[in-house]
Amino acid sequence: MVRHRLVIKGTSALLGQLKTVASRRHGEAYRYFASANQDILVYGANTDVGKTVACAAICHQALVRGQRVAYIKPVQTGDETDAAAIREHCSRGGGMTDALRLETLFHYPSPESPASAAEKAGARPPQDAEFREAVLASLRKEREEQSGVLAILETAGGPLSPGPNHTFQADIYAPLSLPCVLVGDSKLGGISATVCAYEALVARKQRPKAILFIGSEGRHSNASAVQKALPDVPVISVPSTPPQQEPLTAWLSQDQVAKGMSALLDAEAESEASSLEEHLRLDREHLWHPYTSMVKPGLVWPVRSASGCHIQLEDGRRLVDGMASWWCAIHGYNVPELNAAAAHQLSQTSHVMFGGLTHRPATDLARVLLSCVPRGLSRIFLCDSGSVSVEVALKMALQYWATQGLPRKCRIATVQRGYHGDTFGAMAVCDPVRGMHSLFKNSLPQHLFAEAPALARPKDANEGAASDSDGFASMEEMLRQNAEDVAAVIIEPVVQGAGGMRIYSPSYLVKLRKLCNDLQILLIFDEIATGFGRTGKLFAAEHAQVTPDIMCVGKALTGGYCTLGATIASDDVARRVSGKDGTQPLMHGPTFMANPLACSLAAASIRLLLQGDWQHRVAAIEKQLAKELLPLKEHGAVSDVRVLGAIGVVELRSPPKEPAKLQQALVRQGVWLRPFGQTIYTMPPYIISEQELRCITKAIVEVLEEGIELTD
Ligand SMILES: *Cc1c(COP(=O)(O)O)cnc(C)c1O
Repeated sequence: MVRHRLVIKGTSALLGQLKTVASRRHGEAYRYFASANQDILVYGANTDVGKTVACAAICHQALVRGQRVAYIKPVQTGDETDAAAIREHCSRGGGMTDALRLETLFHYPSPESPASAAEKAGARPPQDAEFREAVLASLRKEREEQSGVLAILETAGGPLSPGPNHTFQADIYAPLSLPCVLVGDSKLGGISATVCAYEALVARKQRPKAILFIGSEGRHSNASAVQKALPDVPVISVPSTPPQQEPLTAWLSQDQVAKGMSALLDAEAESEASSLEEHLRLDREHLWHPYTSMVKPGLVWPVRSASGCHIQLEDGRRLVDGMASWWCAIHGYNVPELNAAAAHQLSQTSHVMFGGLTHRPATDLARVLLSCVPRGLSRIFLCDSGSVSVEVALKMALQYWATQGLPRKCRIATVQRGYHGDTFGAMAVCDPVRGMHSLFKNSLPQHLFAEAPALARPKDANEGAASDSDGFASMEEMLRQNAEDVAAVIIEPVVQGAGGMRIYSPSYLVKLRKLCNDLQILLIFDEIATGFGRTGKLFAAEHAQVTPDIMCVGKALTGGYCTLGATIASDDVARRVSGKDGTQPLMHGPTFMANPLACSLAAASIRLLLQGDWQHRVAAIEKQLAKELLPLKEHGAVSDVRVLGAIGVVELRSPPKEPAKLQQALVRQGVWLRPFGQTIYTMPPYIISEQELRCITKAIVEVLEEGIELTD
């Protein structure tokens, strides 16, 4: 194995710069969580249920176990602080307080709700994000100052009590994904209060690890009723505390209290780990992933949620997303405008059949889609996915000639290194050699393949039309020889995606359009990957200023929210497909054709794109990718670097020996990239910031630097 080091001048300075920025950026939040999923956020079913006493007992037991403990009270109102009470309770036992640290983050002396107490104090209450940042900073500080520290955080009031900024406690803390426990209410009416609090937490994805009752014993106690109602969560019950004036020392040392707190500390770790394990087992044993074996599946990383340009993993790590989920999530994840569109449409109609019925989402999508596709395309077939839109395009092309009495024109011409989908018709026009489909060769129709277009070089634009720098000659020869049998040419304009991330000259498409016209061959552009701004133009066809007869879109059509494809044809295609008297139907009609939910998302996504400054964003991404990736051309393990629009491709001299290791190394760098074959490439959401994109390019530079067995 040869380890390639980065030696080019100028790049090491860039690398240094990238390193600092990246560690500053995503070192923060997730590094804390990755190391410490044992901390406990303590909620109460109500005020006055013994939250502080419960915290004292948890702290005490952890101290007895020899652990270092940090008690953090994010919001405190009133003169006396809970932190002081905790110190008081835990110090009586003697000698353990060195291992206990206390912190109060926001303190307002007036004894009332946090919002009004803040107002009385004349203080500007922290915004929710600021508040969380303060909590995270405190957790990080504890972690830095003492290793192995267990943090106990006490909330204020119940889960739906408002915080300083009026947001519910549970909503403030939810994004932190901290393990939590709920202190139950032992009083009359406490069963309902406890179950309500529990459900409010579950609704916010914060299922408590345990429910703790103080002074609720016996067969008819609240504790046993709650355990019956919620059999899946451990309910732990400890004896009542002594009257208020007496110290808690004796109570804290009681056997039952010690045992209860031990159970609570242990239950916590176990349930988190075991549910994740079960989740991954189900995945491993029962679910196929794309292009993988069911028997020996590859590595998968469990995702908890995604928002903006970040994918949050179950262990709390946040990865910067460089894939836009395979070209789709152009606006990033969890987009308010798209969430709203989906929610609105759900309350109207999620789905109705399109046979004999129509609906506003479909016609609305037609309007907005036609406002932006190349001129001349006007007839739309809405279908399930990219592959299906290709099937429909091929059907249209064959039917176009059949209805004119030319059934002989039934072969499809295309180029090598293409990719058009995984269904049979689409698969038959994918690259015949390197494609993933050689297994099915004998069941596929035999189509015609020209050499792949030549890779674009910057000087192409200036070369004369006579030169074959774009590699069109092979296609020209093939079409001239077979014109009478060819129904259509299908091609991915300007960028060949999954077949190798190849960028070629638009001049190829200009020549292809002209030749197809001359030879009476239809031209199909597969814009499934390139559509909606990815290459710097709204559609890649615009680079060549040509209009195909049929165009396929998918992927980013719904902004990455759900599956939808569209085959968009010219008026001429629609007319001829329908036969001389116009009665010939197009024989295709998927169950979920024009699904209203998908259509409303697509319309909202396209509007969001057109209203925003996508052109500047994509241009800025292109510029930055060029600046930060092109220097890698000098790297020994790299054969080529290509950038167009929001696409950056680093091609290696040979495929990595162990792709899984490369993937793991990238995740360790805090980014989500999915190298394919011998390319490491990125097509990030357009909303990615300069710093986030730098994390991505830096991660690519870094894995090459590490030399993850890239070559033999
Ligand atoms: C992804 C892709 C397809 C297939 O789309 P699916 O939605 O996965 O069926 C077809 N053509 C191109 C160019 C693609 O990138």
